[in-house]
Amino acid sequence: MIDDLRRSIRDVPDFPKKGIIFKDITTLCKEPALFQRMVDLLGYRYIGKGIDLVVGIEARGFVVGAALAYKLGAGVVLVRKPGKLPHKTHKASYTLEYGKDSLEIHQDAIEKGQKVVIADDLLATGGTAGAVASLVKDMGGNIIECSFIVELEELKGREKLRPHPVFSLIKY
Ligand code: AMP
Repeated sequence: MIDDLRRSIRDVPDFPKKGIIFKDITTLCKEPALFQRMVDLLGYRYIGKGIDLVVGIEARGFVVGAALAYKLGAGVVLVRKPGKLPHKTHKASYTLEYGKDSLEIHQDAIEKGQKVVIADDLLATGGTAGAVASLVKDMGGNIIECSFIVELEELKGREKLRPHPVFSLIKY
């Protein structure tokens, strides 16, 4: 099951810069049965856990996050690149596997004590998800887990996210 998902992810060497092997999930997402299986596998993990919100990280995290939120009957919250969200935001900066960036969330997106799953396509160094986790935590959200399709284990992103639980469907 997982092997079919793994096989459907395309390796793109030297994108977005030399030396990076980009794990492209678009080749998984465009296959109806595989996309459904991916969302189901994540969903089964959280059904019945009272998740209030799934926080999706721009941009591929929106695809995973929105589908997962629908499956759970939860709300979906968007974490976006600077300047994209229209209302008042909180902002966090972070280091990426291939650069530096910051992310924003609406100040009223999460209420204290709400149960949150953070979702993205891929965990590399953990800089991105770590920044999102600190935003969610500072707002009083209760982070149940950080959830990914792909994890690049060598980069030890999981350690950066400690003490938050981390789940990934496919490990490289
Ligand atoms: P990091 O902050 O290092 O954990 O990087 C994770 C973020 O960057 C995710 O939003 C990914 O979509 C993207 N990313 C980093 N490295 C890769 C990679 N090798 N393949 C695909 N996406 C990546």
